Amino acid sequence: MAVANTGAVNGDVVVPDELANNVFIGTIAKVLDPIYNWSRRNSIWPVTFGLACCAIEMICTASSRYDLARFGMEVFRATPRQSDLMIISGTVTKKMVPTIVRLYNQMPEPRYVLSMGACASGGGPFKEGYNVVDGIDKFLPVDVYVPGCPPTPQALINGLIALQEKIDQQSIATAPWYNKKDPTAGIYPVPVLGPDLVDLRQLDLIRREAAKHPAEDPARATEAEPQTAGPQ
Ligand code: SF4
Repeated sequence: MAVANTGAVNGDVVVPDELANNVFIGTIAKVLDPIYNWSRRNSIWPVTFGLACCAIEMICTASSRYDLARFGMEVFRATPRQSDLMIISGTVTKKMVPTIVRLYNQMPEPRYVLSMGACASGGGPFKEGYNVVDGIDKFLPVDVYVPGCPPTPQALINGLIALQEKIDQQSIATAPWYNKKDPTAGIYPVPVLGPDLVDLRQLDLIRREAAKHPAEDPARATEAEPQTAGPQ
């Protein structure tokens, strides 16, 4: 039987498209949510990668001393397609950020991002360096920030517990991953690494601003005022 691709409203609850014709959600969501969220928050699988010194603390957190298995999070996966948590653990360089965004786009919903340490959250000691971005949240939606340089394993665990609490607040009736009418929703543009990082969302703005100041671009200046070679 064909299923209409429209949501329905039951009281204050918007019924997800996928469930509208199968389950009477209304008050059932209140029953399902605790079970649904309990199982999700106790089986978060992080994607395996580290960027800099913070990654050492992340690895340490996964060791037997701190025992991430208590939270069901010890299964670090080697592919984003089997992961639902990305821990940005370390300095995000301009060369690395296109790869990070590409990996994030390959993760299935629901997915979460934890920004670990000063570098990932704002550039840290390398802020405004020529090769470092000042925060991964310029490119991806961050769910939890963990401060520190580096954060201790206890601080990372605190951040993971904060993420669990955030998951507890989500509802199957309003979860964004069941409400996608636009198939490209949730796909984040991969920045292009050229002479510098270019955010494709700002390409028109960059072109307009560049056109206003041609003299500041040596290549354009040369075009505008061609030099005559050789003696006159
Ligand atoms: S926040 Fe500190 S410890 Fe973490 S990657 Fe940056 S410099 Fe290294």
